[in-house]
Amino acid sequence: MPDLDDAGSSARAAADTGLAADTGRAADTGRAADTGLAAETAAVTTFWRKLGLPGLVDVHTHFMPPSVLTKVWAFFDDGHAAVGQDWPIAYRQPEQERIALLRAFGVRRFSALSYPHKAGMASWLNSWAADFAARTPDALHSATFFPEPDAAAYVAKAIGDGTLLFKAHLQVGGYDPRDELLEPVWGQLAAAGVPVIVHCGSGPVPGPYTGPGPISEVLGRHPRLTVIIAHLGTPEYGEFLALAQRHPGVYLDTTMACTDFMERLAPFPPRLRSRLAAAGDRVLLGTDFPNIPYRYLEQLQALERLDLGAAWLRAVCYDNAVRLLRL
Ligand SMILES: [Zn+2]
Repeated sequence: MPDLDDAGSSARAAADTGLAADTGRAADTGRAADTGLAAETAAVTTFWRKLGLPGLVDVHTHFMPPSVLTKVWAFFDDGHAAVGQDWPIAYRQPEQERIALLRAFGVRRFSALSYPHKAGMASWLNSWAADFAARTPDALHSATFFPEPDAAAYVAKAIGDGTLLFKAHLQVGGYDPRDELLEPVWGQLAAAGVPVIVHCGSGPVPGPYTGPGPISEVLGRHPRLTVIIAHLGTPEYGEFLALAQRHPGVYLDTTMACTDFMERLAPFPPRLRSRLAAAGDRVLLGTDFPNIPYRYLEQLQALERLDLGAAWLRAVCYDNAVRLLRL
């Protein structure tokens, strides 16, 4: 694993080639898209340069086997992801172009989250993710699990292989985090100090085990566990901020929160701003790239609009992740 400086220079080189390839396209539509991307890239880099940061760390991005990603995109296309909202995927490029774009944005580390919706998938997803991490030095080696008999064994292997970050999706997986098959998994994550991003908020649609209750019980049994609540816990923002106040190992990622799109579905209550400010050392930039129905820049603008100050933004967009993941 190269250090951040190595990753930064390779990222810049890759970004250069990626953008050169983009701007070389002949079609008018391609040129229009390229101009848009170039403007967005300039705006994103201006955002972190103004803060005096060397770039961004994004803990919540998705890279997964192409066959799985195709199905995820079809799910969003069919309008299943959120009731009453179209969800046009903004970054539907081939994998190498998506990586080049993150690098061009100055995202110096990004995750490769995948998650199973049924038993028998997680081990295969983890193999793919290990290979992705091996060929993508600035990706955070990510893995996942499901309540199934071999979960403890493949999670142990993933930790041994250098996984930096796990993902558990309680809504898509439809499982109870208190399932006894997951007890040894939570225990191992706590012992190894490897964080797990858990989608346990009830947004954009609830599942049988979403909401603060079930995951709180897991934390009660595994107080040393580091849990990153995805999406700031949308829509149960207050409850999950309270959970973070009770447990020093609870973090929150910003994924989609406070963007215009999410404000229409589940607005972040302005009265919680001061508590979000106070939790500033436990909030991490996440975006859901590439599966978002708006531009990457909008997540950064949404955070800026909270008006919690430059120090808060620096911690959220870079420093907290570097400290937590020991980058
Ligand atoms: Zn996500």
